[in-house]
Amino acid sequence: MSAPALARIPQGGVCASGRYNADLWSSTLKDEVRFAKAVCARCPVRAECATVAIETGQDFGVWGGLDMAEDARAIRRARRKGARTA
Ligand code: SF4
Repeated sequence: MSAPALARIPQGGVCASGRYNADLWSSTLKDEVRFAKAVCARCPVRAECATVAIETGQDFGVWGGLDMAEDARAIRRARRKGARTA
């Protein structure tokens, strides 16, 4: 994960703890993305992290257990669709 991205991670984020290689959260390798998502699943700030990522328009890397290149795009589409039908 890049330094600017790490700066946006909520305090208490496991990926910023130094316990893991933070580059795993910006990997494009499926096994590493899967591993990062698994760590996110146990992170105490997961929901807050995903919210920050979506609200700041992150389009790369794993945030809050979401692959921003895939999952978050689908969430944004669903939100836009919901806003149009509301
Ligand atoms: S949810 Fe994942 S990306 Fe977000 S702070 Fe936790 S470990 Fe890092």
